[in-house]
Amino acid sequence: MIRKLQQKIVIIITTLLTILLIVVMLAINIVSQVNNKNKIQRSLERLAEKNGVGIGTGYDPYHDPDYIYSDSFAVKIGTDGSVEITINRNTEVNEKVLIEYANQAFSSNKDSGYIGNYAYLIKEKVYGVIVVFTDVSTIMQQNTSLFINTLIIGGISVLLFFGLSVCLSFWLVRPVRVTFEKQKLFISNASHELKTPIAVINANADVLEAEIGQNKWLSYIKSDSARLNELVNELLSLARLEDKSGHKLVFEEFNLSELILQTALPFESRMFESGKKYETDIQPDVTYRGDISSIRHILTILIDNAIKYSDENGEISVKLYTRSNKKIIEVYNTGMGIPKDKLDKVFERFYRVDEARNSESGGYGLGLSIANEIVKRHKGNISVQSEYGKWAKFIVEL
Ligand code: ADP
Repeated sequence: MIRKLQQKIVIIITTLLTILLIVVMLAINIVSQVNNKNKIQRSLERLAEKNGVGIGTGYDPYHDPDYIYSDSFAVKIGTDGSVEITINRNTEVNEKVLIEYANQAFSSNKDSGYIGNYAYLIKEKVYGVIVVFTDVSTIMQQNTSLFINTLIIGGISVLLFFGLSVCLSFWLVRPVRVTFEKQKLFISNASHELKTPIAVINANADVLEAEIGQNKWLSYIKSDSARLNELVNELLSLARLEDKSGHKLVFEEFNLSELILQTALPFESRMFESGKKYETDIQPDVTYRGDISSIRHILTILIDNAIKYSDENGEISVKLYTRSNKKIIEVYNTGMGIPKDKLDKVFERFYRVDEARNSESGGYGLGLSIANEIVKRHKGNISVQSEYGKWAKFIVEL
């Protein structure tokens, strides 16, 4: 639970900061691109104003803030069909290419645009028309390197955010962890303390029964103290399993197929009594290294649940098979099943799908959390599949 909370904190902080970072980086890139585009436009306008002359003739473009310090040229076409080319600075393209560029600009049917590394602008003049070009490769390179730099900085920042949020999550969940530990200790201590009084109540009820004979009230006391005893045992099991340093499991190699058969077969009489169809399909001689009594406990919980939550004359099956080195146990039952949105929750402590509906089955919502804890301690996985109203299947992968 605490790890999930920590993961959520890390995901939320990292996602929020990353979104913020992306917005800022995008804004920087867009603003810079728009500025550069405007600068190119102003520079072309200025060039057209000066009839394509960027250098000399009294005009000093290098001190004009509206002029891009780059190669430029212009092609003037007079109303009489005359063509005049002006080249500023060291443009290496020859006249033929320049005229070709001008033709492309005219045929594009747009007043401005880009051809190769050049931006162009077409302007009507009294003498005809002028198309001015300016080299924008440096500006394009600036745009690209700004984009790459923001990507690199963004990537590094996301990693930093991640590290920071991991540290922050430890700090944030500390109070929850402390409360959780205290709660666990309380449950464990309370369960221990309750064990003796329950045993005393039960023993006294037995003595009374021996003295006064069978009695309706005594049977209520006995059945309720048995229920209480069951709850206390479940709470103690869970507390022990969660206390990894205190309660060590004994791992040994054993025949899993035999253990499942030994555990599943005694349920046959209960199935028979309640008119349920019971099937076992156990792959023989599957061995496994784990804590025998805990694995038996998982099976008991799952088969017990299958009986409790299956429909009248329902079907129950227990399977064991291996798949790519994994030992898979499946416990299936027809019946009410579990709604899709509750599938994850059934492994939480004290969670019962429908308290009102389940009340007659008598449970506390601890069985599956115990099974989950045992499977986790075996580094395995437990999951559930279900079609609501039809069936449920619990799958343990070891
Ligand atoms: P309990 O059975 O004591 O209530 P569990 O932790 O074993 O507690 O199960 C939690 C809940 O999951 C149950 O209350 C029940 O709603 C649901 N559940 C468990 N097993 C099955 C099953 N085989 N079919 C349908 N629902 C199930």
